[in-house]
Amino acid sequence: MSGPVTIRDAAPDAQSDEPQVCDVEVIDGRDAEVGGFAVRRVLPRRQRRTVGAWCFADHMGPGSTTATHGLDIGPHPHIGLQTATWLVQGAMLHRDSLGSEQIIRPGQLNLMTAGHGVAHSEETTGVHRGSLHGIQLWVAQPSTTRDGEPAFEHHATLPQAAVDHGVATVLVGAFLDAVSPARRDTDHVAVELALEPGASILPLDRAYEYGLAVLDGSVKVGDCPVDRRSLGYLGVGRDELAVEVVEPATLLLIGGRPFPEPLLMWWNYVARTQEEVTAAHRAWTDRTERFGAVSSALAPIFTADPPWA
Ligand code: MN
Repeated sequence: MSGPVTIRDAAPDAQSDEPQVCDVEVIDGRDAEVGGFAVRRVLPRRQRRTVGAWCFADHMGPGSTTATHGLDIGPHPHIGLQTATWLVQGAMLHRDSLGSEQIIRPGQLNLMTAGHGVAHSEETTGVHRGSLHGIQLWVAQPSTTRDGEPAFEHHATLPQAAVDHGVATVLVGAFLDAVSPARRDTDHVAVELALEPGASILPLDRAYEYGLAVLDGSVKVGDCPVDRRSLGYLGVGRDELAVEVVEPATLLLIGGRPFPEPLLMWWNYVARTQEEVTAAHRAWTDRTERFGAVSSALAPIFTADPPWA
């Protein structure tokens, strides 16, 4: 038996005469847990490993920190990357093997450069009670600095610029006439956008690719919604980004020149070869001087050898 096609086969509202114009690639994140806290990992994903030098992004919370439970990550190692921590709500304590001990609050940037090796812990229990909400990102270091000395920076205030219906805070790199003092080993940018409802046109660099993470609220790029669970990806060659904000929104725009080298990422290491990862992991597992010690009450984190070792 055949035809006719009925309304049950193809509901009229499922097909519009006007095709949806999706001016952004929406990459779905995945739910994960870090340090006892729910996160949404939007980078790396199978279809998108890097955005410029940005190679990792965990949207943390919002979730609650109590007297006995919060986001608590014991000492663990890193190589070849920078960690950038940015909070929307709450506070977190960073400690590292350089002796740094730094509380971070909303509007501030913690930027740790691992280079050849560093270890750090991050904790909220006993530091903060109430809502915790933020994002942690990694930046892959280029070959010129990735074997260098580790370092840590805290930026208590960052430069801002006015945009349509809101304010841009520049974490890393330059945006409009605001330039962040944060260390930058490659050509990349990160900007928080606090936007009120309305249409905003944001200037972009044609040489950069971009990712848009929605920390709060909701936005549309073209006809396409980007929500808290995903990353909106924009390829190179754009002069501007038009976003329509439906309810007050906090966005994080990351971008940069496409990273020129393939990365090998395993556990907390960003490298180029399996041998480099194996050597770093042996140094951490054997507790050698390469990563140093972190003065934290939390237990250090160890994991099994990489699958190829
Ligand atoms: Mn870490």
